[in-house]
Amino acid sequence: TLNDKTLNIACAYAPNAELKMLNKPIPKAEFGEVVLHVRATGICGSDVHFWKHGHIGDDYVHQPCGAGHESAGEIIEIGEGVSAEWKVGDRVAIEAGIPCGLPSCQFCLKGRYNACPKMIFFSSPPIHGTLTRFHAHPAAWLHRLPDNVSYQEGALCEPLAVALAGLQRAAVSLGDPVLICGAGPIGLVTLLSAHAAGCFPIIITDLVASRLEIAKSLVPTVQTLKIEREWSSSDIAEKVKSIGGDAPVEVALECTGIESSITAAIYSVNFGGKVFVIGQGPTVQSYPVGYCSMNEIDLQFQFRYAHQYPKALRLVSGGLINLKPLITHRFPLEKAKDAFAVAGDYSQNSIKVQILD
Ligand code: NAD
Ligand code: ZN
Repeated sequence: TLNDKTLNIACAYAPNAELKMLNKPIPKAEFGEVVLHVRATGICGSDVHFWKHGHIGDDYVHQPCGAGHESAGEIIEIGEGVSAEWKVGDRVAIEAGIPCGLPSCQFCLKGRYNACPKMIFFSSPPIHGTLTRFHAHPAAWLHRLPDNVSYQEGALCEPLAVALAGLQRAAVSLGDPVLICGAGPIGLVTLLSAHAAGCFPIIITDLVASRLEIAKSLVPTVQTLKIEREWSSSDIAEKVKSIGGDAPVEVALECTGIESSITAAIYSVNFGGKVFVIGQGPTVQSYPVGYCSMNEIDLQFQFRYAHQYPKALRLVSGGLINLKPLITHRFPLEKAKDAFAVAGDYSQNSIKVQILD
């Protein structure tokens, strides 16, 4: 069955930290939908978390649920009611969260559709994800790939959308000294975005030296700070301040979600600065709020993104952001479980693992 185009296989997380390859029926395009051949899907930290822990917050894996929401593919069938702009063979990035879009929904009406309470987010149990050969999707939530953007780059527009949403709301601007905490995939796309936005100087932190080396290879002017586990948040802030010198950090883009790192970010920014938390940690954390008050530090948070895909594709197509070096491992769909094994093993030093078909 290797590369059998008549078989719709999918990689699914299942209860008890199991991964399963499923055989699924080939989907039909419902009204307004197209059927896609998914050509590239990246594994996200949340996919690995659902696999290993069986839940994220209150979302539990009760039965096998297809993984994946960072995908790009090719249209192979057009359903009724789909706009004439779409043709079989078109190459698209797939926006995996489908809000209700109804005028009765205040969030959709305001354009903050990431807050839509009726959001269908592929790969959030029990809704199967896009890590499958064939996937039916509302045409309205597809974004055409420019000719010079590959499926692999199209798939990486999902984490890029997260970073761009963060930068937009953090309102960073040209010449802002910026701190980025964490050099995982989200920290690295945030680095690429902040660099493209003209932030300078940029400091990036991580506990893992190899991730900082990748940061340096992506943006040679970035200054790296390797954090030691025994350092306190104030220790970290002191080092950040000494690296920053006479360009104190105005905005920290926090990309770990870890309490001690968020606290270090708070202590690192200048009076009147901002800590923008893209990372997502435990529901309850404690921060030095009194310090924020005395130093007029704004603390802001983020949930996914809205309206970022077109921008992401423009920036990639226009050469302002190069996502290609982030892909460290590629596997065929039949070997999706091996891909997860690499993505879930810290010692493999992966950044982005993608599954191609
Ligand atoms: P990741 O785990 O691959 O990367 C986190 C990095 O932070 C790692 O390299 C780790 O070594 C480093 N780190 C850990 N503790 C640190 C510390 N104290 N100081 C500095 N670095 C430290 O995860 P990722 O895929 O890059 O995602 C990063 C965060 O973004 C996660 O919390 C994830 O849940 C979150 N996220 C948020 C959104 C959103 O909508 N806000 C969307 C996607 C991901
Ligand atoms: Zn809505």
